[in-house]
Amino acid sequence: MADDAFPAQQQEPPGLTSSMDPVPDHGESSYVGHGRLAGRRALITGGDSGIGRAVAIAFAREGADVAISYLPEEQPDADDTARWVERAGRRCVLLPGDLRDEQTARAVVADAAQALGGLDVLVNNAAYQMARRDRFEDLASDDLDRVLKTNLYALFWVTQTALAHLGRGASIINVSSVQAYQPSTALVDYAATKAAINNVTVNLAAELGPRGIRVNAVAPGPIWTPLQPATQPAETLESFGVDTPLGRAGQPAEVAPALVFLASETEASYVSGTVLGVTGGKAVF
Ligand code: NAD
Ligand code: MG
Repeated sequence: MADDAFPAQQQEPPGLTSSMDPVPDHGESSYVGHGRLAGRRALITGGDSGIGRAVAIAFAREGADVAISYLPEEQPDADDTARWVERAGRRCVLLPGDLRDEQTARAVVADAAQALGGLDVLVNNAAYQMARRDRFEDLASDDLDRVLKTNLYALFWVTQTALAHLGRGASIINVSSVQAYQPSTALVDYAATKAAINNVTVNLAAELGPRGIRVNAVAPGPIWTPLQPATQPAETLESFGVDTPLGRAGQPAEVAPALVFLASETEASYVSGTVLGVTGGKAVF
């Protein structure tokens, strides 16, 4: 095992944080808030674990109330995230549900807005990938369907429904990937959805700009989250992230500040239609 990589390990999707070795860093002991999101109300899809959890903790410490959506089998992770948000003195609304179902996706957003008394920030973070295959012909239709529904359909449904609640000064942040720029052969379907998400981000920024709503994306590189042991071949993780210029994978805690910036109406008031890379040095253009 390389010094900066991880032990071989495998879980079934969607994966749980407590089964990871090592457990990721979500900024629990490091993130310091500065009131940059005071009084804001944010919905974070996939907010139970990984990048979504780090964002929930950072947003809460910046003064936001949050709602997180996740799959029902991820309840233990969602409960942990909620505890961290509440320790920051903010509310955490828990919304289990499978976003591949249109009715569920729309209900999750309506419930978030109702419980929080409105919505100011939407983070489209939930996603699925499956990298345990070698050839394009091996791409199973049920995986293809799961990837497209989770990463694209759900993003459309969630965002459409959220627009009934988002007003001037609101911020939409889509989670893209370095895969949109440097696609891995084993992730051809996933990479295609991330390229599409970049395109949707620019397109929506154009449509929603006149309504005072900013739309941006964050493109992470290799980040240590449950998605990886749940979807990569076990031995791939031994070198996960070492091919980046910084020579290692990132932690969820290292991604969250980019989303705080994009969510903040004071710091990012003129930032819309852009993709911010957090890739350990890999190009996002
Ligand atoms: P993660 O597994 O912790 O988070 C993804 C979440 O998506 C899950 O927790 C789950 O709650 C949610 N989800 C998946 N399918 C769902 C469904 N059908 N209904 C509802 N929720 C569903 O992993 P992560 O790495 O933190 O992923 C967060 C985002 O970061 C994703 O958009 C992912 O594509 C992106 N990303 C991750 C990496 C990385 O290396 N980890 C790199 C680039 C981009
Ligand atoms: Mg999870």
